[in-house]
Amino acid sequence: MIVRDEPLSRHTTIQIGGPADLFCEVNSVKTLLPVLQSSCELRIPAVVIGGGSNLLVDDKGFRGLIVKFVNREPLYLDFPLLTVSAGQTLRELLEYTAEHSLSGLEFLAGIPGSVGGAVYMNAGAYGKTISELVRRAVIIGNDHELQTVSPDFFQFNYRSSILHACPRIVVSVTLEVSRGDASAIRKECERVIAVRAGKHPKPSVPCAGSYFKNLPPERPGENRRAAGYLLEQAGAKSMKIGGAGVYSEHANIIINTGNATAQDVLELGKKMKKAVFEKYNIMLEEEVRFLDAQKGII
Ligand SMILES: Cc1cc2nc3c(=O)[nH]c(=O)nc-3n(C[C@H](O)[C@H](O)[C@H](O)COP(=O)(O)OP(=O)(O)OC[C@H]3O[C@@H](n4cnc5c(N)ncnc54)[C@H](O)[C@@H]3O)c2cc1C
Repeated sequence: MIVRDEPLSRHTTIQIGGPADLFCEVNSVKTLLPVLQSSCELRIPAVVIGGGSNLLVDDKGFRGLIVKFVNREPLYLDFPLLTVSAGQTLRELLEYTAEHSLSGLEFLAGIPGSVGGAVYMNAGAYGKTISELVRRAVIIGNDHELQTVSPDFFQFNYRSSILHACPRIVVSVTLEVSRGDASAIRKECERVIAVRAGKHPKPSVPCAGSYFKNLPPERPGENRRAAGYLLEQAGAKSMKIGGAGVYSEHANIIINTGNATAQDVLELGKKMKKAVFEKYNIMLEEEVRFLDAQKGII
């Protein structure tokens, strides 16, 4: 069902965002295709979202159609390949892999959002990214046809993929997994979640994860440099604009302390970026995607 004027603050983890002119939640590709076809014929711009955990939405909302894609076909295992719908959450995926003694995805434990969003963002943690496991995917092509693509198609990079420049909808992804021990897999997921709990706000605190990307390693073979460290040294932790503040335990996380607007967050982000530039001559790059009311995701 398509609804009008749906507040997008209900669909983002930072709980910010004005109304979308049109909004629908779609749970199968069969339903999605005619919706896209109609929006195209009527020249209504359409944007697909997943869990809204990496999104800052304009206070003016979106002049078009937002499709929340929550397709959840049964997972399909043809070992070592596991095919999962884009609308499945990472959490559900990890529950499945633990239950079926499949290893390799534990580093994704605790990351919110959908599998489709994770591919779009090339999500990851602790030096690993989902791109390392992607073996193929089904996407919706320009003419609304289903296409199977290889990992090369995505041109994965750090927290980025070709989908940022050429948006396509991911329908399903096939990942390579290995055999493991169910209790060891669960333990590792719990360990990762416990480590994350020390750095990230509680799920009840509205945020969109890291606001800026970490920086490339200084020397080959080293880890990426944490943007959070530079931000902390530049005094970001005490910064606040309107209802947007910096999380006390992690200077790279902007939280909605109450009635933050997207404008508050954008201004705070600018201030944080300026402080790092002035101290280190380094220009941070936003990791969180912005949904502009007119232009869509930018
Ligand atoms: C507390 C917290 C911790 C986080 N920690 C991490 C972390 O450790 N590592 C990390 O990488 N990220 C992290 N994130 C960010 C976020 O969870 C990931 O980027 C996640 O993969 C985004 O998925 P999503 O479904 O929420 O995407 P959304 O926020 O809904 O969308 C993000 C982008 O993906 C696009 N998109 C969504 N679904 C599809 C689809 N099916 N096809 C094509 N495009 C699509 C949207 O158009 C949008 O441009 C964190 C976020 C929070 C709130």
